[in-house]
Amino acid sequence: MNYIVFDLEWNQGREGKQGQKHEDIPFEIIEIGAMKLDENKNVIGEFHQLIRPSVYKDMHYITQNMMHIHMKDLKKGLSFREAMEMFLEWCGEDYMFCTWGGLDLLELQRNMRYYDMEPLSHGPICFLDVQKLFSIAFEEDKKSRRALEYAVSELSIEKDIAFHRAFSDAYYTAKILQKIPTDVEEYCSYDVFHLPASKEEEVQKIFPSYAKYIFREFENKKEAISDKAVLSTKCYICDKNAKRKIKWFTPNGKHYYSVSYCDKHGYLKGKLRVRKGMNASSESEAVYVIKTLKIISEEEKNLIAEKREHAREQRQMKRKFLKEKNTKVPK
Ligand SMILES: [Zn+2]
Repeated sequence: MNYIVFDLEWNQGREGKQGQKHEDIPFEIIEIGAMKLDENKNVIGEFHQLIRPSVYKDMHYITQNMMHIHMKDLKKGLSFREAMEMFLEWCGEDYMFCTWGGLDLLELQRNMRYYDMEPLSHGPICFLDVQKLFSIAFEEDKKSRRALEYAVSELSIEKDIAFHRAFSDAYYTAKILQKIPTDVEEYCSYDVFHLPASKEEEVQKIFPSYAKYIFREFENKKEAISDKAVLSTKCYICDKNAKRKIKWFTPNGKHYYSVSYCDKHGYLKGKLRVRKGMNASSESEAVYVIKTLKIISEEEKNLIAEKREHAREQRQMKRKFLKEKNTKVPK
């Protein structure tokens, strides 16, 4: 399997001017840059292509300032469709996309849909978010998201070309990827531009320290959070049923938590994130759920119990407040 490390530059419409912004394509891709690495992360190919804009014909000042590129240069480029077909052919058959952050893969697919191109996939796409991997490999908190230039400096990579052009950013991202230990690459990400439409396309991934599940789309939230598989908290290590210690509760209506207990592996924290997405074929709104299960300590379990108490108090206060408000007699 090869790694395709790519980066995009895009232009956007100016705000405030009628007809300048297109909701279907808020960001129009104007440049693709990529590096191809083999399974040992040796560079085996390079790709660079400018794209002739067809939606936004004026350069937005943000794009202009960052990229230092002019419309007259872009006019010499290929159409998006031609460039994309060339790019995908260059990618080959067996590869994994790698990008700095998750936006490039999303915008790539949004532009492809705008031009009615065959989708990259019919379900979530597994890819490497090198920005996330950098954090897991080299940052103490394992969570912060750094700028590309920061990571390049931290890893003492020579800054031999200017930043903020598609090719240079793909080049630096590839250099960073080469320094990421192989075991960290386990922490792949999933792009959900195309939600899992069926049970077969659902994602179940066991990482070294937690498990992640992306369920198929549901019509609404109620349906999503009453689904048996969504609510299940089987231990992801031994696959045995874990006893529920704290029932599913929500402090905000978006995130749900629970704690279960596996006799062999201890406390198991469950977290559901209910999100809105788009059904790729009908383009209608859909609800989907990401579940994570993680082995936690007794202290962490107690913190979740406190969180539940707090959520309960909040609810009671709200109820009391509404009751008082409704029973007040107007003077
Ligand atoms: Zn277990």
